[in-house]
Amino acid sequence: MMQIVLVDSSRVSLKLISQMLQFAGHDVIPFSDGAAALDYLRAGRPIDVLMTSFELPHVSGLELCWEARLVSNEGHPLYVIAMSSNVDGQQLVEALDSGADDFVAKPPVPAELYARLRAAERMNQARRELIRLATVDPLTELLNRRAFFERAQAVCRNHGHAGPIAIVMFDIDHFKKINDTKGHDAGDCVLKAVAAVMRREPGHAARLGGEEFVILLPGASIAEAWETAERLRHAVADLQVPIPSGGTVSATISLGVAHYHTGETVDLFLKHADVALYAAKTAGRNRTVVASISAPASHPSPLDGGHISLALPDPS
Ligand code: GH3
Ligand code: MG
Ligand code: MG
Repeated sequence: MMQIVLVDSSRVSLKLISQMLQFAGHDVIPFSDGAAALDYLRAGRPIDVLMTSFELPHVSGLELCWEARLVSNEGHPLYVIAMSSNVDGQQLVEALDSGADDFVAKPPVPAELYARLRAAERMNQARRELIRLATVDPLTELLNRRAFFERAQAVCRNHGHAGPIAIVMFDIDHFKKINDTKGHDAGDCVLKAVAAVMRREPGHAARLGGEEFVILLPGASIAEAWETAERLRHAVADLQVPIPSGGTVSATISLGVAHYHTGETVDLFLKHADVALYAAKTAGRNRTVVASISAPASHPSPLDGGHISLALPDPS
Protein backbone atom coordinates (compact mmCIF):
# COMPACT_ATOMS: atom_id res chain seq x y z
CA MET A 1 0.00 0.00 0.00
CA MET A 2 1.42 3.35 -1.05
CA GLN A 3 0.59 7.01 -0.50
CA ILE A 4 -0.06 8.43 -3.97
CA VAL A 5 -0.46 12.09 -4.85
CA LEU A 6 -2.54 12.20 -8.05
CA VAL A 7 -2.64 15.39 -10.13
CA ASP A 8 -4.99 15.92 -13.06
CA SER A 9 -6.95 18.97 -14.17
CA SER A 10 -9.92 16.83 -15.19
CA ARG A 11 -12.26 15.88 -12.36
CA VAL A 12 -13.44 12.89 -14.37
CA SER A 13 -9.90 11.56 -14.85
CA LEU A 14 -9.12 12.19 -11.17
CA LYS A 15 -12.10 10.15 -10.12
CA LEU A 16 -11.48 7.32 -12.58
CA ILE A 17 -7.77 6.94 -11.76
CA SER A 18 -8.38 7.37 -8.00
CA GLN A 19 -10.81 4.47 -8.11
CA MET A 20 -8.27 2.29 -9.93
CA LEU A 21 -5.59 3.11 -7.37
CA GLN A 22 -7.88 2.62 -4.39
CA PHE A 23 -9.04 -0.69 -5.81
CA ALA A 24 -5.39 -1.84 -5.61
CA GLY A 25 -5.32 -0.77 -1.94
CA HIS A 26 -3.45 2.54 -2.28
CA ASP A 27 -4.17 5.81 -0.49
CA VAL A 28 -4.85 8.60 -2.97
CA ILE A 29 -4.50 12.32 -2.35
CA PRO A 30 -6.08 13.98 -5.43
CA PHE A 31 -5.32 17.47 -6.76
CA SER A 32 -6.67 19.27 -9.81
CA ASP A 33 -4.07 22.02 -9.43
CA GLY A 34 -0.30 21.54 -9.75
CA ALA A 35 0.60 24.38 -7.38
CA ALA A 36 -1.56 22.93 -4.59
CA ALA A 37 -0.01 19.50 -5.14
CA LEU A 38 3.47 21.00 -4.91
CA ASP A 39 2.62 22.76 -1.63
CA TYR A 40 1.41 19.42 -0.31
CA LEU A 41 4.65 17.67 -1.32
CA ARG A 42 6.79 20.47 0.16
CA ALA A 43 5.08 20.07 3.53
CA GLY A 44 7.30 17.02 3.92
CA ARG A 45 4.69 14.30 4.12
CA PRO A 46 5.85 10.73 3.42
CA ILE A 47 4.46 10.39 -0.11
CA ASP A 48 5.57 7.34 -2.12
CA VAL A 49 4.36 8.18 -5.61
CA LEU A 50 3.52 11.34 -7.52
CA MET A 51 1.34 10.65 -10.56
CA THR A 52 0.91 13.80 -12.56
CA SER A 53 -0.75 14.72 -15.80
CA PHE A 54 1.24 16.92 -18.18
CA GLU A 55 -1.62 19.28 -18.90
CA LEU A 56 -2.15 21.33 -15.74
CA PRO A 57 -3.11 24.90 -14.78
CA HIS A 58 -0.62 27.14 -12.86
CA VAL A 59 2.26 24.65 -12.69
CA SER A 60 3.01 22.47 -15.70
CA GLY A 61 3.41 18.72 -15.27
CA LEU A 62 7.05 19.09 -16.34
CA GLU A 63 7.72 21.71 -13.69
CA LEU A 64 6.00 19.57 -11.11
CA CYS A 65 8.29 16.63 -12.00
CA TRP A 66 11.34 18.85 -11.56
CA GLU A 67 10.17 20.34 -8.31
CA ALA A 68 9.11 16.97 -6.94
CA ARG A 69 12.66 15.72 -7.49
CA LEU A 70 13.98 18.65 -5.45
CA VAL A 71 11.66 18.06 -2.47
CA SER A 72 12.01 14.30 -2.51
CA ASN A 73 15.53 14.07 -1.17
CA GLU A 74 14.74 14.21 2.54
CA GLY A 75 15.32 10.52 3.14
CA HIS A 76 11.97 9.35 1.81
CA PRO A 77 12.09 8.22 -1.82
CA LEU A 78 9.44 9.58 -4.18
CA TYR A 79 8.63 7.80 -7.44
CA VAL A 80 7.31 10.08 -10.17
CA ILE A 81 4.97 8.89 -12.92
CA ALA A 82 4.04 11.30 -15.69
CA MET A 83 0.73 10.88 -17.54
CA SER A 84 -0.42 12.23 -20.85
CA SER A 85 -3.22 11.54 -23.30
CA ASN A 86 -1.19 12.41 -26.39
CA VAL A 87 1.69 10.02 -26.25
CA ASP A 88 4.26 11.20 -28.73
CA GLY A 89 7.88 10.27 -28.33
CA GLN A 90 8.99 13.84 -27.62
CA GLN A 91 6.74 14.18 -24.58
CA LEU A 92 8.00 10.88 -23.18
CA VAL A 93 11.59 12.09 -23.52
CA GLU A 94 10.72 15.41 -21.87
CA ALA A 95 9.02 13.68 -18.97
CA LEU A 96 11.94 11.37 -18.28
CA ASP A 97 14.45 14.20 -18.65
CA SER A 98 12.44 16.25 -16.14
CA GLY A 99 12.92 13.66 -13.47
CA ALA A 100 9.98 11.34 -14.03
CA ASP A 101 10.74 7.69 -13.35
CA ASP A 102 8.01 6.39 -15.64
CA PHE A 103 5.37 7.47 -18.11
CA VAL A 104 1.84 6.14 -18.64
CA ALA A 105 -0.71 6.91 -21.32
CA LYS A 106 -4.13 8.26 -20.32
CA PRO A 107 -6.52 6.75 -19.64
CA PRO A 108 -4.37 4.09 -17.98
CA VAL A 109 -5.04 0.41 -18.62
CA PRO A 110 -5.57 -1.03 -15.10
CA ALA A 111 -3.36 -4.13 -15.41
CA GLU A 112 -0.54 -2.03 -16.87
CA LEU A 113 -0.89 0.66 -14.22
CA TYR A 114 -0.78 -1.91 -11.42
CA ALA A 115 2.35 -3.51 -12.88
CA ARG A 116 4.02 -0.08 -13.08
CA LEU A 117 3.08 0.61 -9.46
CA ARG A 118 4.64 -2.70 -8.42
CA ALA A 119 7.80 -1.54 -10.20
CA ALA A 120 7.54 1.74 -8.26
CA GLU A 121 7.29 -0.18 -5.01
CA ARG A 122 10.40 -2.23 -5.86
CA MET A 123 12.34 0.89 -6.81
CA ASN A 124 11.32 2.76 -3.64
CA GLN A 125 12.29 -0.25 -1.54
CA ALA A 126 15.73 -0.33 -3.19
CA ARG A 127 16.12 3.43 -2.67
CA ARG A 128 15.13 3.14 0.99
CA GLU A 129 17.76 0.46 1.43
CA LEU A 130 20.40 2.67 -0.20
CA ILE A 131 19.45 5.57 2.08
CA ARG A 132 19.66 3.27 5.10
CA LEU A 133 23.07 1.93 4.09
CA ALA A 134 24.36 5.46 3.56
CA THR A 135 23.08 6.92 6.83
CA VAL A 136 23.04 4.16 9.46
CA ASP A 137 25.98 2.65 11.33
CA PRO A 138 25.64 -1.11 10.73
CA LEU A 139 26.81 -2.25 14.18
CA THR A 140 24.70 0.01 16.38
CA GLU A 141 22.01 1.11 13.89
CA LEU A 142 22.50 4.68 15.09
CA LEU A 143 23.06 7.50 12.60
CA ASN A 144 26.56 7.41 11.14
CA ARG A 145 28.96 10.33 11.24
CA ARG A 146 28.00 11.76 7.86
CA ALA A 147 24.26 11.53 8.43
CA PHE A 148 24.71 13.10 11.86
CA PHE A 149 26.55 16.10 10.42
CA GLU A 150 23.83 16.60 7.83
CA ARG A 151 21.15 16.37 10.52
CA ALA A 152 23.04 18.74 12.83
CA GLN A 153 23.58 21.24 10.01
CA ALA A 154 19.86 21.25 9.26
CA VAL A 155 18.98 21.70 12.95
CA CYS A 156 21.55 24.48 13.49
CA ARG A 157 20.45 26.31 10.33
CA ASN A 158 17.01 26.71 11.90
CA HIS A 159 18.51 27.86 15.19
CA GLY A 160 16.62 30.80 16.60
CA HIS A 161 13.26 29.47 15.49
CA ALA A 162 13.32 26.58 17.93
CA GLY A 163 15.20 27.76 21.03
CA PRO A 164 18.53 26.45 22.28
CA ILE A 165 20.45 23.45 20.95
CA ALA A 166 22.77 21.31 23.03
CA ILE A 167 25.03 18.38 22.39
CA VAL A 168 26.28 15.51 24.53
CA MET A 169 29.41 13.79 23.24
CA PHE A 170 30.99 10.81 24.95
CA ASP A 171 33.64 8.14 24.63
CA ILE A 172 33.85 4.76 26.36
CA ASP A 173 36.59 4.63 28.99
CA HIS A 174 39.48 2.20 28.52
CA PHE A 175 37.61 0.48 25.73
CA LYS A 176 40.79 -0.95 24.30
CA LYS A 177 41.17 -2.94 27.51
CA ILE A 178 37.73 -4.56 26.98
CA ASN A 179 38.79 -5.58 23.48
CA ASP A 180 42.18 -6.79 24.66
CA THR A 181 40.96 -8.80 27.63
CA LYS A 182 37.50 -10.00 26.49
CA GLY A 183 37.84 -9.94 22.71
CA HIS A 184 36.61 -7.75 19.89
CA ASP A 185 33.19 -9.46 19.93
CA ALA A 186 32.74 -8.44 23.55
CA GLY A 187 33.68 -4.88 22.60
CA ASP A 188 31.00 -4.96 19.90
CA CYS A 189 28.43 -6.13 22.46
CA VAL A 190 29.29 -3.16 24.66
CA LEU A 191 28.93 -0.76 21.72
CA LYS A 192 25.48 -2.18 20.97
CA ALA A 193 24.40 -2.00 24.60
CA VAL A 194 25.52 1.63 24.83
CA ALA A 195 23.56 2.41 21.66
CA ALA A 196 20.46 0.83 23.22
CA VAL A 197 20.84 3.12 26.24
CA MET A 198 21.11 6.13 23.91
CA ARG A 199 17.92 5.17 22.09
CA ARG A 200 15.97 5.68 25.32
CA GLU A 201 16.83 9.39 25.19
CA PRO A 202 15.16 11.96 22.95
CA GLY A 203 17.29 13.72 20.33
CA HIS A 204 19.43 12.57 17.43
CA ALA A 205 21.83 9.83 18.51
CA ALA A 206 24.83 8.90 16.39
CA ARG A 207 28.03 6.90 16.45
CA LEU A 208 30.78 9.23 15.33
CA GLY A 209 33.25 6.35 14.98
CA GLY A 210 35.01 3.75 17.12
CA GLU A 211 33.62 4.07 20.65
CA GLU A 212 32.66 7.71 20.36
CA PHE A 213 29.01 8.76 20.39
CA VAL A 214 26.93 11.91 20.32
CA ILE A 215 23.37 13.04 20.98
CA LEU A 216 22.09 16.28 19.50
CA LEU A 217 19.34 17.81 21.63
CA PRO A 218 17.32 20.48 19.79
CA GLY A 219 15.47 22.69 22.26
CA ALA A 220 17.54 21.56 25.25
CA SER A 221 19.19 24.04 27.61
CA ILE A 222 22.69 23.31 28.85
CA ALA A 223 21.17 22.24 32.20
CA GLU A 224 18.85 19.76 30.45
CA ALA A 225 21.76 18.44 28.40
CA TRP A 226 23.74 17.98 31.60
CA GLU A 227 20.85 15.92 33.00
CA THR A 228 20.78 13.81 29.85
CA ALA A 229 24.53 13.30 30.09
CA GLU A 230 24.37 12.20 33.72
CA ARG A 231 21.45 9.88 33.00
CA LEU A 232 23.51 8.29 30.24
CA ARG A 233 26.57 8.05 32.45
CA HIS A 234 24.70 6.26 35.21
CA ALA A 235 22.79 4.00 32.82
CA VAL A 236 26.01 2.87 31.11
CA ALA A 237 27.78 2.33 34.44
CA ASP A 238 24.85 0.13 35.52
CA LEU A 239 25.09 -2.10 32.43
CA GLN A 240 26.07 -5.74 32.79
CA VAL A 241 26.60 -6.64 29.15
CA PRO A 242 26.44 -10.37 28.38
CA ILE A 243 29.28 -11.41 26.08
CA PRO A 244 29.65 -14.41 23.70
CA SER A 245 32.40 -16.07 25.74
CA GLY A 246 30.10 -16.11 28.77
CA GLY A 247 29.78 -13.75 31.71
CA THR A 248 29.28 -10.02 31.48
CA VAL A 249 31.36 -6.88 31.12
CA SER A 250 30.74 -3.38 32.36
CA ALA A 251 31.97 -0.02 31.16
CA THR A 252 31.99 3.65 31.97
CA ILE A 253 31.91 6.72 29.76
CA SER A 254 33.31 10.25 29.83
CA LEU A 255 31.08 13.00 28.52
CA GLY A 256 31.36 16.52 27.20
CA VAL A 257 28.37 18.86 26.98
CA ALA A 258 28.19 22.00 24.87
CA HIS A 259 25.54 24.41 23.63
CA TYR A 260 25.23 25.94 20.21
CA HIS A 261 26.29 29.54 19.67
CA THR A 262 24.27 31.11 16.85
CA GLY A 263 26.24 31.26 13.63
CA GLU A 264 29.02 28.86 14.54
CA THR A 265 29.74 25.84 12.35
CA VAL A 266 28.70 22.35 13.39
CA ASP A 267 32.42 21.49 13.45
CA LEU A 268 33.07 24.16 16.07
CA PHE A 269 29.96 23.16 18.05
CA LEU A 270 31.28 19.59 18.24
CA LYS A 271 34.77 20.84 18.99
CA HIS A 272 33.49 22.52 22.16
CA ALA A 273 31.94 19.23 23.30
CA ASP A 274 35.11 17.37 22.35
CA VAL A 275 37.29 19.71 24.42
CA ALA A 276 34.99 19.14 27.40
CA LEU A 277 35.09 15.38 26.80
CA TYR A 278 38.86 15.47 26.78
CA ALA A 279 38.79 17.38 30.08
CA ALA A 280 36.52 14.67 31.52
CA LYS A 281 39.10 12.06 30.48
CA THR A 282 42.06 13.87 31.99
CA ALA A 283 40.12 14.61 35.18
CA GLY A 284 39.78 10.87 35.78
CA ARG A 285 37.01 9.55 33.44
CA ASN A 286 33.43 8.45 34.27
CA ARG A 287 32.29 12.06 34.55
CA THR A 288 30.57 14.88 32.68
CA VAL A 289 32.17 18.22 31.87
CA VAL A 290 30.28 21.22 30.53
CA ALA A 291 32.12 23.35 27.98
CA SER A 292 30.57 26.67 28.76
CA ILE A 293 31.03 29.76 30.85
CA SER A 294 27.58 31.05 29.98
CA ALA A 295 25.62 28.29 31.70
CA PRO A 296 22.35 29.48 33.25
CA ALA A 297 22.17 30.27 36.97
CA SER A 298 20.03 27.17 37.43
CA HIS A 299 22.98 25.05 36.37
CA PRO A 300 22.95 21.83 38.40
CA SER A 301 25.47 21.28 41.11
CA PRO A 302 28.90 20.46 39.71
CA LEU A 303 29.24 17.88 42.44
CA ASP A 304 27.86 14.51 41.57
CA GLY A 305 28.89 11.26 43.13
CA GLY A 306 32.19 12.79 44.12
CA HIS A 307 32.97 13.92 40.57
CA ILE A 308 33.81 17.50 39.87
CA SER A 309 32.64 19.17 36.71
CA LEU A 310 35.01 21.72 35.28
CA ALA A 311 33.67 24.88 33.72
CA LEU A 312 35.92 25.44 30.74
CA PRO A 313 36.55 28.85 29.24
CA ASP A 314 34.48 29.26 26.11
CA PRO A 315 36.86 28.57 23.21
CA SER A 316 35.05 30.98 20.85
P1 GH3 B 1 40.12 6.16 26.72
O1 GH3 B 1 39.57 5.89 28.07
O2 GH3 B 1 41.22 7.18 26.76
O3 GH3 B 1 39.07 6.52 25.74
O4 GH3 B 1 40.83 4.82 26.26
P2 GH3 B 1 40.33 3.81 25.14
O5 GH3 B 1 41.05 2.51 25.35
O6 GH3 B 1 38.84 3.74 25.16
O7 GH3 B 1 40.76 4.57 23.83
P3 GH3 B 1 41.52 4.13 22.54
O8 GH3 B 1 41.25 5.19 21.52
O9 GH3 B 1 42.97 3.83 22.86
O10 GH3 B 1 40.86 2.77 22.08
C1 GH3 B 1 39.72 2.72 21.34
C2 GH3 B 1 39.60 1.32 20.83
O11 GH3 B 1 38.35 1.09 20.19
C3 GH3 B 1 40.64 0.96 19.80
C4 GH3 B 1 39.88 0.27 18.69
O12 GH3 B 1 40.47 -0.95 18.34
C5 GH3 B 1 38.53 0.02 19.29
N1 GH3 B 1 37.46 0.01 18.32
C6 GH3 B 1 37.17 0.92 17.37
N2 GH3 B 1 36.07 0.55 16.67
C7 GH3 B 1 35.66 -0.64 17.19
C8 GH3 B 1 34.59 -1.53 16.88
O13 GH3 B 1 33.76 -1.31 15.97
N3 GH3 B 1 34.47 -2.66 17.63
C9 GH3 B 1 35.36 -2.95 18.65
N4 GH3 B 1 35.17 -4.05 19.34
N5 GH3 B 1 36.38 -2.11 18.93
C10 GH3 B 1 36.53 -0.98 18.23
MG1 MG C 1 37.71 5.42 24.72
MG1 MG D 1 37.95 7.11 21.42
